Amino acid sequence: MSRTVTQLLVSLLATCWIQCSFAAAADDEKVRPSADNPLVRISTTSGDIVLELFPDKSPITVKNFLRYVSDGSYKDTVFHRVIPDFMIQAGGHLADMTEIEGENEIHNEADNGLSNVTGTIAMARTNIIDSASRQFYINTNDNTRLDHSPESCTREDEKATEAAAERGLVRPVTCETFGYAVFGRVIRGMSVVREIELVETKDEGDFYDVPVVPITITGMDQIPFTELDKPIAQKNYPAEKPALVLLIAIDQFRNDRIDASLPGGLGKLAREGRIYTDASLDHGLTNTCPGHAVMMTGVNPGRAGIPGNSYIDAAAWEERYCVEDGEPENLVLGGDEGRSPWMLTVPTLGYWVKSVINGRSFSVSGKDRAAIMMAGHDADGVYWFDREQVRFTTSRFYEQSLPAYLNEFNKLVVDLLPPIWEHDAGRFRPDDYPGESEDNGRVSGRDLAEGDVEELGDRIYGSPYLDTLTLELARRLISEEKLGTSGVTDLLTVSLSANDTVGHQFGPFSAESEHTLSIIDSELASLFNLLDESIGEDNYIVALTSDHGVANLPEWQTELGQNRCPIEGGRIGFYGFVGGLLFDIYAEYTAPWDFPTDLVKFSGSQLYINRPYLEENQLELEQVMAGLKDILEDEAGVRKVWTRTEIENTSSDEARLLRNSIVNGASGDLFLQVEQDCIISDTGTTHGSLYDYDRSIPLVFYGAGVTSGSDSTPANSIDIAPTLLNVLGIPVPSDLDGKSLELSP
Ligand SMILES: [Zn+2]
Repeated sequence: MSRTVTQLLVSLLATCWIQCSFAAAADDEKVRPSADNPLVRISTTSGDIVLELFPDKSPITVKNFLRYVSDGSYKDTVFHRVIPDFMIQAGGHLADMTEIEGENEIHNEADNGLSNVTGTIAMARTNIIDSASRQFYINTNDNTRLDHSPESCTREDEKATEAAAERGLVRPVTCETFGYAVFGRVIRGMSVVREIELVETKDEGDFYDVPVVPITITGMDQIPFTELDKPIAQKNYPAEKPALVLLIAIDQFRNDRIDASLPGGLGKLAREGRIYTDASLDHGLTNTCPGHAVMMTGVNPGRAGIPGNSYIDAAAWEERYCVEDGEPENLVLGGDEGRSPWMLTVPTLGYWVKSVINGRSFSVSGKDRAAIMMAGHDADGVYWFDREQVRFTTSRFYEQSLPAYLNEFNKLVVDLLPPIWEHDAGRFRPDDYPGESEDNGRVSGRDLAEGDVEELGDRIYGSPYLDTLTLELARRLISEEKLGTSGVTDLLTVSLSANDTVGHQFGPFSAESEHTLSIIDSELASLFNLLDESIGEDNYIVALTSDHGVANLPEWQTELGQNRCPIEGGRIGFYGFVGGLLFDIYAEYTAPWDFPTDLVKFSGSQLYINRPYLEENQLELEQVMAGLKDILEDEAGVRKVWTRTEIENTSSDEARLLRNSIVNGASGDLFLQVEQDCIISDTGTTHGSLYDYDRSIPLVFYGAGVTSGSDSTPANSIDIAPTLLNVLGIPVPSDLDGKSLELSP
């Protein structure tokens, strides 16, 4: 599939999820039907679904449907065809798949102007335009390709085709389907539709996508308007669900940094939570964007569509950021760049919370990519700190303006900070250590408020107070949005970025990093206090994790006697390394007139080879890859350069981890793997490798329904979403990469 087509599909999918959330006829008391329209209740073994029918738009179809409702002949038929993200079909088969014939075929009213959007009901039929009789389907996605359009085939086209066929001829057909007649919509019980949509299916003889456990229609009846105010029957939902699910991601937080001696909220999670001691990422490119993408989707970054923090767009031959969006309608509020989750190809927990149980979903972080990846396509509010504006903002993708309380909060941003960042010497590692970054000073007493306003955002961003602001905003969201008080479960995801921005400069266990965690610890304590007061101590569940770990500062790793990097000191100088490579590539392939980057570009540890350049210069891809591999593997500190073929065909753990990161159409041609403990950077430290220290993350659950203690079951961050789906009684899709963990064995 070409890149453009893939991109188009991805963006179509993205569009769908957005519209789905708005178009869905959810279980919302606000969805009021017109008093003139008939209401029909479909009672099923999975719960009740209430329909509003549109006789003014589809008189023939509604009359036909109501006749089967009143003669009781839909009773005991099943939902015999169930396809997630598409539709659920019923009305024509018994549980043993015996077909019940309809009484007659009806005139197709697809040209009535109604669209096959999520939550609408339409008549099923064969390929013949006027062939619907009794089978119907409910759209679980915006299936506008099923609509009638000006390009649709006419009945005259159909007759001409038939006449030709009788003469043994095939008439070329250029028109599209006549469309499928929508005649009503779901106004209650969309959660039941969603539950049916997700059941396990099988193929049975001539039938595909048949539910393994039959979902039977136990009755259908027309109901009066007044029945709408009664609760509808549902099944399979836990009696007690938490009022709020809270995800806390601490960026760059290695498992060995959980500290039960901390007096506040972080310490409380370590003391009272269920701690998975063997937790890690199950993918090899360990950066922020993929690390956050897996938390709420339950799939690895390769399947989630997120290769790294950035990638090279092959068509434009330019590096792109993982949440970059060129569409003007997705501009950041107050900014001039676009942001959206368009690359994310799978739903998040927020999607399920919103579409299945009608809860709300909010996300907040110091970083745009973290907030967006945790929230996904469907969210009520997604906010991050914009360094240039020195305030929290969002993208028009989510909202057209900020809520009033957020504008108020933004005015206070600077007031909430101390003028000077002061911290203690630190318990673990001496302060002012060799290798620490000089950019922001290496000792306590950094000015935050003084100096250039334009740099203020950067100073906040590189300090622990970024997390102070993020957690203050999280608390305001809880109060202002009254999260956890509506009777259904809400979701709040919070990612604390300062531990990463500080960690990059000074390393884990530095005095600065320790101070960052102690600030998070005390801010989390007030957040938990707020929740205890507003929704009750046993009424919420918390999951704590991280997007990735980090390497120790190489100088400290050396002092500990643990540095395995073959280069003295553990550092590969960035400019020397990249400069040398580019020169070698130039000398070998692009001299004298072209730049080495005309042929090869880096994005993180991925290398991309420019196909048009190969063609123009009669270079063979395989030969260039082998040549680059030689050049790179010759460098000190480089352990291996992987080709895609090697990644696909090697059975090692390392190859598997890299496979889990690969996105077709967006990942590189070659993957650079340095030796353990080697860092390509002149100061500070970093992450991104597939080694244990970069994949090490904490995984802690705390609160409603969670038994505290430590659990040595191997666990990954892809397990968080299925575990929480299970807690909420939402059927766990069978194709997730993660598994549901037992929180109360
Ligand atoms: Zn980082």
